[in-house]
Amino acid sequence: MSLHELSDEQREIRELAARFADEVIVPQAPAWDREHTFPKEVFAQLGELGLMGVCIPQELGGAGADFVSYILVMEQLSRGDAGVGTAIGVHIGAGQLPILAHGTAEQQERLVPPLAQGHELAAFALTESGSGSDAGALRTRADAAQRLTGTKQWITNGSHAHVFNVFARDDDDGRISAFLVRRGAPGFAVTREEEKMGQHSSSTADLVFEATPSERLGTPGAGMRIALSTLDGGRIGIAAQATGIAQAALDLAVGYAKERRAFGRAIGGFQAIQQKLADMQTEIEAARALTLRAARLKQAGRPHTVEGAQAKLFASAVARRQTGEAIQVLGGYGYTKEFPAERYYRDAKVTEIYEGTSEIQRLVIARALLGEAARES
Ligand SMILES: Cc1cc2nc3c(=O)[nH]c(=O)nc-3n(C[C@H](O)[C@H](O)[C@H](O)COP(=O)(O)OP(=O)(O)OC[C@H]3O[C@@H](n4cnc5c(N)ncnc54)[C@H](O)[C@@H]3O)c2cc1C
Repeated sequence: MSLHELSDEQREIRELAARFADEVIVPQAPAWDREHTFPKEVFAQLGELGLMGVCIPQELGGAGADFVSYILVMEQLSRGDAGVGTAIGVHIGAGQLPILAHGTAEQQERLVPPLAQGHELAAFALTESGSGSDAGALRTRADAAQRLTGTKQWITNGSHAHVFNVFARDDDDGRISAFLVRRGAPGFAVTREEEKMGQHSSSTADLVFEATPSERLGTPGAGMRIALSTLDGGRIGIAAQATGIAQAALDLAVGYAKERRAFGRAIGGFQAIQQKLADMQTEIEAARALTLRAARLKQAGRPHTVEGAQAKLFASAVARRQTGEAIQVLGGYGYTKEFPAERYYRDAKVTEIYEGTSEIQRLVIARALLGEAARES
C-alpha cells in the first residue's frame, strides 16, 4: 500500500495531523527538548481535533477512523516531535486499544471516552528492572483480591497518565494477567522520571505498587497474550514514528542543500549530496510502504506479527541511519543545536529499542521462517 491508495477520509486525517504538526508542534519542539517539557496543552488540543482517539469508535468518544488513519497520524505527529508521537502511540496503541480488545463493555464505556477525547491519558506498564525483552520474567504480584505489589520501569506517560494497563503475576497460580489501575489508587506512586538521551518531551517514569487495588483486564492468565498482541500493533505505530522522524531529517537536509553554498555553488549541486538525499528518500518510502502494509493487514483483522516486526526493524534502522546522514549534509551546523538534526538523531535511536528491540524483531521474523528449528538454537 502506498500513500496514493489512501481513501479520502485517510487523506483528510493525514492532512489534519500534518497541519497541526507544522503549525503547532514544529515551532515548539526545540524548546520542549531543551527544557524537558511534557506538552500537556498539545494533548488537549489533539483531543479537540479527535486525534487522541482517532481509531476509537465514535460511540466511545473517538473519531471512528481506521487503524491505517492512526498510523498516518503517528507519522505526521512524530515528524513534528518524536516525543509527542511516543505519548500518542502509547495512549492509543498500548493504552486504549487493549481495553477495546479485552475489556468488558462496562470497562470500555467507563474508561475509554475520557481517554479518546484527550481529557485523560493512558499508559502501558509491562517492563521492570529485571525484565525487558524477557517480559515473562516480571515479578509484580497480584493477590487474590487483585491488589498489586511490585515496581515498573520506564513507563511512557508514567508521570501524567490516569489509566495504567499493568501486567502482574497472579499469586495463586503464577500466571501473568493484565490489570487496570487508576492514578491515585492507594499504594500507587510515581517514583522517578528518567533522564534520557532524546525524546525529552516524553515522560518515562518508574512506578511502584504497594497492595494497590486494581481491576482485571481480560481473563486470568491472559496477560502475556494481551501484552504480545498489543505490542504486535504497537510496533506498527513505532515504525510510523520512525518514518516520521526520518522524513523530518530528509526535509531539513533537502532545504539546507538548496541554500548552503560551498566552492561557489549550492551543496545540492554536488553529486555526493544528491546521492545521499536520493538514498534517504528511497529508504523512507520503503519504510512507509512496509508500515502501511502491516497497518492494512491489522485493519483487515489478518495476521500481522511478522509484517509489523519487519516494518519496525526496517523503519527504525532507516531513522537511525538517515538522521545521521542529515547531520552529515548539514556539516558542522548539523552537530549544533542551531538546527534540529542532532535532536532527530537522538530521538530516533530509541525506536530500535522500545516495543521490542531490533534483535527481538529479528527473532520474531526468524521464528516464523524457521518454526521449531529456531527455538532449538
Ligand atoms: C524511552 C523508553 C520508553 C519505554 N516505554 C515503555 C512503556 O511505556 N512500557 C513498558 O512496559 N516498557 C517501556 N520501555 C521499555 C522497553 O520496552 C525495553 O527497554 C525494551 O523492551 C528492552 O528491554 P531492556 O531495556 O530490558 O533490554 P534487555 O532485554 O536487557 O536487552 C539488552 C540487549 O540484549 C538483547 N537481547 C535480549 N534478549 C535477547 C534475545 N533473546 N536474543 C537476542 N538478543 C537479545 C536486546 O536486544 C538488547 O540489545 C521503554 C523504554 C524506553 C527506553
